[in-house]
Amino acid sequence: MSNELFERAKPILDYIQHHGFEAYFVGGSVRDYLMGRDIHDIDITTSATPNEIEDIFEKTIPIGKEHGTINVVYHHENYEVTTFRAEEDYVDHRRPSEVHFVRDLYQDVQRRDFTVNAIAMDSNYKTYDYFEGERDLKERLIRTVGEPRERFEEDALRIIRGLRFQAQLDFKIVDNTFDAMRKQIADIQYLSIERIVVELKKLIKGINVAQSFNLMKEIDAFKHIPFFNSFNMQRVHIDEPLEFEMWIAIMLAQQPITDTLKLLKISNNEKSNIHTLANLIKTLPQVQSKQDLIIVIYDNNIKNIKNVLATKETIKKNNLNTPNPLILNERSIEEVYNQLPIHHRKEMAINGGDIIQHLNTKSGPWLKDVLRQIEVAIITQQIKNTKVEILEWVDANVKV
Ligand code: ATP
Ligand code: MG
Repeated sequence: MSNELFERAKPILDYIQHHGFEAYFVGGSVRDYLMGRDIHDIDITTSATPNEIEDIFEKTIPIGKEHGTINVVYHHENYEVTTFRAEEDYVDHRRPSEVHFVRDLYQDVQRRDFTVNAIAMDSNYKTYDYFEGERDLKERLIRTVGEPRERFEEDALRIIRGLRFQAQLDFKIVDNTFDAMRKQIADIQYLSIERIVVELKKLIKGINVAQSFNLMKEIDAFKHIPFFNSFNMQRVHIDEPLEFEMWIAIMLAQQPITDTLKLLKISNNEKSNIHTLANLIKTLPQVQSKQDLIIVIYDNNIKNIKNVLATKETIKKNNLNTPNPLILNERSIEEVYNQLPIHHRKEMAINGGDIIQHLNTKSGPWLKDVLRQIEVAIITQQIKNTKVEILEWVDANVKV
């Protein structure tokens, strides 16, 4: 159980307390610490208002001041310090745009989603557990703080979060919490896709994604989420943790629906990775010869090829063809890659200009084809990557 991050942040809590306010660790870091899991980022909650935090500390950044969050820079590290707050006036099943600050820890933890996320801990590692979160941690249960129906009505994202925590922590969702999830799932249609995607990215790589994914299907969650509602999700089978991009790529390879990816509002980089992976999933099974193998390895990032290979079982379960293991395997990839005479077009000993000059002709669409043929001839070692050999090849093969 590593408490290094807490130890480093302790002086901040003590410093706030020294100024007469309360301060606690709270949320995911406390939950993960009590479970003996690695903790990544620490959330600090305090009775001091954002202005008071700014007065106390020398260096602060008002990253989410209107919601109560101030970034405190301490010993060159950043800590998010958030004022105790209560949330009311939920509109359209979304969290309110306005919050109000309170001085009482109880009210702050009461607005949190699940009992295991509502445990506060002071700088002496004493816990303040108003909703039996520690019992639920021991019994590995996901249970809402308060009446599940009300809590999901306030903010429907909590339904997806609950399934995400189940996948991540391998917990069971208690019956009445799950019943309320099932009944209220349609409300997730009011959420922004960005907030949903944040949770789905964590859900899909959770160790118990198999169960959560099936429950998502069972309660018809995907029907209410843009992008996913274009797919027949009953045909999609996920029972091992995956990266989000790989998951979407498998779906697109299985059900080629064009122009939908933009609905996810993810970055261009993510979209392009997804397309690359989807293409690889489709093309790798077509690799049948050494020559095909060389070309595919030259044309692609081998990390992506290896990722697709590592996901073979899931790809197969989704009724897609998988690469021939006799041709494509970890060893053959390494071997072929290490033997490639060049790894990039830029390394060719000749360029378009050289060819035009040599043939004493004008450029045209043919040039691109010829360059590609030369490139393939080089990587498949039919010719050496020297100007002399390439021009010999041009003389023998290119008619103008
Ligand atoms: P992770 O380890 O993935 O960061 P986390 O529990 O810290 O998990 P966050 O999304 O970082 O989750 O949120 C921090 C804390 O804020 C949660 O533990 C919970 O107490 C509270 N919280 C976050 N989102 C909601 C929500 N939609 N409704 C109620 N409380 C929430
Ligand atoms: Mg967190």
